[in-house]
Amino acid sequence: MKAASFSYVKPAALNEVFDLLERHGDRARVLAGGQSLLASLNLRLSAPELLVDITGVPGLAGITVSGGTLRIGALTTHRQIERSPEVARHLPLLAQAVRHVAHVAIRNVGTFGGSVALADPAAEYPACAVALDASLVLAGRGAQRRVRAREFFRGLYDTALQPGELVMAGEFPLSGEAYRSAFLELARRRGDYAIVGIAAHARLAAGRISDARLAFLGAASRPVLALRAASLLEGRPLDAQAIAAAQATLDDDLELPADLYASRATKLQLARVLLGRALGALNG
Ligand SMILES: Cc1cc2nc3c(=O)[nH]c(=O)nc-3n(C[C@H](O)[C@H](O)[C@H](O)COP(=O)(O)OP(=O)(O)OC[C@H]3O[C@@H](n4cnc5c(N)ncnc54)[C@H](O)[C@@H]3O)c2cc1C
Repeated sequence: MKAASFSYVKPAALNEVFDLLERHGDRARVLAGGQSLLASLNLRLSAPELLVDITGVPGLAGITVSGGTLRIGALTTHRQIERSPEVARHLPLLAQAVRHVAHVAIRNVGTFGGSVALADPAAEYPACAVALDASLVLAGRGAQRRVRAREFFRGLYDTALQPGELVMAGEFPLSGEAYRSAFLELARRRGDYAIVGIAAHARLAAGRISDARLAFLGAASRPVLALRAASLLEGRPLDAQAIAAAQATLDDDLELPADLYASRATKLQLARVLLGRALGALNG
């Protein structure tokens, strides 16, 4: 199938983008790397009249560290994240996760902002952003706001973005030295979206775990923190008993909707296995 016909414009300034979005309303769509949007046009899942290509707008790409925060601009590609020494040093969780995003050809073009704006519940960045307590910087004409990732992802492909707003960047607070990370997922084939995955981030000191953020992907309509499992683990040594207790609570923590490939029971089993492996990796 081919996309329905549409107009295309590539503004060179942010104000022009906001003008176009205001003028055309829901008949316009923002285009970044196009790795998800163009497929949805070709499948005729959506048929906007106008694509507003934001890749000509300066200042939207790049990774910077300042004042205890690592900032990733919306137009930063997956590949730039994968190759960033700053991400490897300060956000090892994201550095592990990005290698699971699709294939190199897609990672060369797809963007951070496109991924979080799309809000696929099986995508890697949203779960990492929730686990790391990141915020998304959103901007519309004349106004900018920050929304914590935990509030930004609202449901299936649903976010806190308002009409006419863009994702400008993600801001990730840097964790202390005692924090460790583990990202794991199970997919049918390498490069596919995950069936289930986990972004785990926690403090380990004197053999005990605290402040565990166990964000699951593919386990609900949005990334979800396993809060009961985390509270069970708080302050405990990461021994077999603690891990088994945390695994047992996942049934309450996660929705795990069945899909074409896996039942709820299968997903629950996969989530438990991944949690065990992730806690083992944090402890290792
Ligand atoms: C075969 C295949 C496998 C894939 N596997 C994975 C995977 O395993 N994990 C994963 O996470 N992703 C996967 N993807 C998706 C890929 O990561 C895309 O790059 C990403 O989802 C969207 O980024 P993009 O820059 O291409 O956005 P686009 O396709 O250009 O846009 C996606 C959506 O976001 C909106 N948008 C884009 N940028 C902004 C912005 N700055 N502000 C507001 N709205 C914006 C667009 O209007 C559109 O609705 C896969 C894609 C393919 C084709």
